[in-house]
Amino acid sequence: TNRTFTMIKPDGVENGHIGAILEKISASGFRIVALKMTQMTTADAEAFYAVHNERPFFGELVEFMTRGPIVAAILEKDNAVEDFRTLIGATNPADAAEGTIRKLYATSMGENAVHGSDSDENAAIESAFHFSGREQF
Ligand code: ATP
Repeated sequence: TNRTFTMIKPDGVENGHIGAILEKISASGFRIVALKMTQMTTADAEAFYAVHNERPFFGELVEFMTRGPIVAAILEKDNAVEDFRTLIGATNPADAAEGTIRKLYATSMGENAVHGSDSDENAAIESAFHFSGREQF
């Protein structure tokens, strides 16, 4: 098995979807290895999304990701990174497949309810950003 990292973004928390999203994740065969509610500072969000710092939406992304709490988690499953990207659906919910988390719970391209790591390497980096070894089970 391998691992991926996810966040329920501030819109997903504000809209009351924590329980439904975690239920869908569990029902889809992912084991929760780590889990917490936390709020990112501006410095946290700028560092987490540093790969996007030249993009026109970077300021908006940092503003959005810091406006309220998020739920961070590490998930384990065979083929975790790819299967989780399939479960969440396309970045823009208008393009997301039926039954995906973004189709069900996202409101726009920017406010798209969940994050999923895009590689095993980034999953490890992002997991270490949010969780110590003692918080991973
Ligand atoms: P994530 O990294 O959150 O799982 P992703 O890999 O599907 O999303 P990326 O292209 O890596 O998408 O963009 C990271 C995040 O930046 C998106 O999830 C979204 O919140 C935001 N974003 C991307 N493109 C835009 C855009 N054109 N306008 C506003 N926000 C955007």
